[in-house]
Amino acid sequence: MAQEHPNRLAEWLTLLRKNIPVVREHFLDWVEAVREEPRLAWETPALRYGVYGLSGIILLWVAAGVVRLAVPPLPASAKPQATTADFHVVCANPDCSHHFVIHREFGFDDFPVLCPECKRESGVAARRCNSATCAGRWVAPQSTAEGMVCPVCGSRLE
Ligand SMILES: [Zn+2]
Ligand SMILES: [Zn+2]
Repeated sequence: MAQEHPNRLAEWLTLLRKNIPVVREHFLDWVEAVREEPRLAWETPALRYGVYGLSGIILLWVAAGVVRLAVPPLPASAKPQATTADFHVVCANPDCSHHFVIHREFGFDDFPVLCPECKRESGVAARRCNSATCAGRWVAPQSTAEGMVCPVCGSRLE
């Protein structure tokens, strides 16, 4: 069985070698015919579809290039700058202590703001208290002689 492959290959090569002059003759005939009647070239399907295929590939390539030019990848510096930000607010009213988030211009510091819960102007910029008791709770910092402290557990806020 294994011996068959080289034999078959040799057969194919012989067949090919035998056909090359025939193919060349056909080709020369075709060239001769086209020289006399150029329209014939376009009427040869192999050539026509070849040209169609090639045109399609070139069109796709050009289109891809145009798209790449029209939509350049945004460099990191070109990203629109954020002009607003979320601010955590905690109501300083001890009976309320409501925590909410407001969306304002970057750098906003016009506190206190209206608390939506108790409707008082007692919403202050919240800070996170990371003590064991509060575990990251948002609190309204209290100003003392030692600095800002948590009104819930009394620990200093960094
Ligand atoms: Zn409130
Ligand atoms: Zn605390």
